[in-house]
Parts: sequence; C-alpha cells; structure tokens
Amino acid sequence: MSARDGRIALKDLSLQDLEAFIVSLGEKPFRAIQVARWLYGKGVRGFEEMSNLSRSFRQKLEEAAWISVLEPAEVQSSRDGTRKFRFILADGEAIESVLLPEKDHLTLCLSSQGGCALGCRFCLTGKRGWVRNLKASEIIDQVIGVRSTLSPGEKLTNLVLMGMGEPLLNYPNVLQALEVLRSPLGLQFSNRRITLSTAGIIPEMVELLSRRNFVKLAISLNAATDEQRTELMPINRKYPLKDLLSACRKVPLPNRERITFEYVLIRGVNDSPEDARRLARLLKGIKAKVNLIAFNEHPESPFRRPPDEAIRNFREILMAKGFTAMLRQSKGSDILAACGQLGGKAFEDSRTQKEKEIIKP
Ligand code: SF4
Repeated sequence: MSARDGRIALKDLSLQDLEAFIVSLGEKPFRAIQVARWLYGKGVRGFEEMSNLSRSFRQKLEEAAWISVLEPAEVQSSRDGTRKFRFILADGEAIESVLLPEKDHLTLCLSSQGGCALGCRFCLTGKRGWVRNLKASEIIDQVIGVRSTLSPGEKLTNLVLMGMGEPLLNYPNVLQALEVLRSPLGLQFSNRRITLSTAGIIPEMVELLSRRNFVKLAISLNAATDEQRTELMPINRKYPLKDLLSACRKVPLPNRERITFEYVLIRGVNDSPEDARRLARLLKGIKAKVNLIAFNEHPESPFRRPPDEAIRNFREILMAKGFTAMLRQSKGSDILAACGQLGGKAFEDSRTQKEKEIIKP
C-alpha cells in the first residue's frame, strides 16, 4: 500500500481492503462498491467526479485518500496498427505497454516490473536490468490509461502480462492487480482473456496453476536442452527444464485448459529440425500448445531471425508430433514494441529524468 501525505492510494488496496477502508471512514460497506465503480469502471481522476456520493463523504475521501492516474507520456503507432504507450511513474521510472489490434480482439500487453532481473539474452528489457517492482495500482493504471485513449468503436478485450519484467517475481502485487482486473467491481476481464507469461519461476507458477480457472499461463521456454536454455535464459540454472516441466506435469489442469509454451526462434541457435524434435519429446504428456515467435531483430542484439523455411519446418515437425503450434505474428517491431524489445527508450528516458532529479539544486 502506498501513501501520499499520509493519504492512502485507493488503487493499491484490494477490493476487500477498500471496503474496510470505507467502513473505517464511518460509511456503509456498499459505498465501497460505488467507489470501486467510479475508480475502475469510469476511471475517474478525482473524488469530485463521484457524483452519487454525498459531499461530506467525498470530503472525507479527499482527506484520507488519493487516486493514482497514469497518462501516456508518449504513444507511438506502428505501420501494422500496434500502439506503444510510454508511462512515466511518480518516481520518474518509465514503463511501456503495447496495444495489439487483432482480427476480432484488442490485446494489451502490460508491464509488471521496471526493467527485469532475469537477463534473457534475446531481450532488450533484460539487458537493462531490474529497477523495481510495480505497485498493483501501476499495473491497473496501464489498463485504465490505455483504455482512456481508445476510440468509441474500440474495446479492450484481452490482457497479457508479457511486457517489461517477470510477473511472478512481483507476485503479491500482480495477484492484487489481477483480482481487480478480473472482478465484476473492477475492470471485468474474464479469466480466459488474461494470460500471464513467466520465464518459469517454479514455486509461484505452481501456486498460480493451483488456482483453478484463474488466468491462463504461458511459459517462455525457448530451448529444448538445459545447456541451450541456460545460455539464453540464465534463470534456467535455478529452475532447470526437468524441474520446470515436471511441475507442469504434476498440476492437474481443468479439462480444456492447456499451458502455452512460447519459443522464440533464433537463427542457428534453437531453430533446427533436431531442436523441434527435442522440444516435442520434452513436452510429451503435457497439455501444451506451442507459440512460435520469430526473433525480432534489434540493433543491440547479435541474434537474427531464422529464414521462413526454417520456421515453417520447425512448426510442421511439432504439428506432426500432435502439438498445436502457432506462429505468432510479431507486431510493432518498427517501433520496438515487439516481444523482447520493450524498455529501450523507456529506460533512457527514465534515467534522464532521474539524472535531472539528481542534479536539481
Ligand atoms: S524475456 Fe521477460 S523474463 Fe526475460 S529478461 Fe525479458 S522481460 Fe525479463
């Protein structure tokens, strides 16, 4: 929970704590429902906008609480319709969210941390290192901030926690944000339309999987041997493939539920037919779906995208072994908004902002 001048940030409260807080102000519990509707349904910026609350209640709220707001500092549009939003947080840190228009839905990719500690070699965010965990309000406010920019015909339908950071290393705040994002009193996204992507932090992953029908899980796998995976994702030293996949096998999934495995294909590194066969052997017995993503090249990386034929072959081998394997079209690479590209400009800007603060008289 964060405070400003001793006041409570309402969006950092769970819905249960919001009710307790409203009651502590001497109001009836149902008032919390009204406040939640204004905060999340309408996305108001001030208590004076909560027009069905009495003046005295609004006054009490004003004195005891405040409403966090994230407004995009910059919006970049890609040739393919992808929009990248840069938000500057209260302490000057910058984060990015990406809006991905698809045929019949509009997906928002959210950040869960400033930077990332895991240092995956194919990821620009990872190169920047970890800065801090985002508060629940900073995760929720990305959704409200982007929603406020949509045109009348546009509706945000899906959320993915795949932006900057490893969500399971900020688990308490991510869980609290997810509660609000899913709740009928909050942002009202259905479980099936929220996906959390992890590099494989096993204890929290098992906890998440044990919550039935909570959100969908995607695991960023990217290799079929420990040697290869450790090279690409150092976290594999702590949570090796055998343990990661054995955890996936042990957790009973609801009937039609499957775990998505993401696999970034990198030329000459993990894109051979043998890699595909190894991957199929590795995933045997897991209710799995594989999302293949051709590496998004960027100037700071030595890695390259595989030729189209290698990508096709890889996919066909998996499908021949009975797996659903989708080639995810990468979007927004011209504005560094594609997978693994977030955090370049955001980091520079936040550092510049911090430097400005340090040299302030
Ligand atoms: S891919 Fe994800 S987990 Fe790995 S460094 Fe990038 S943000 Fe972190």
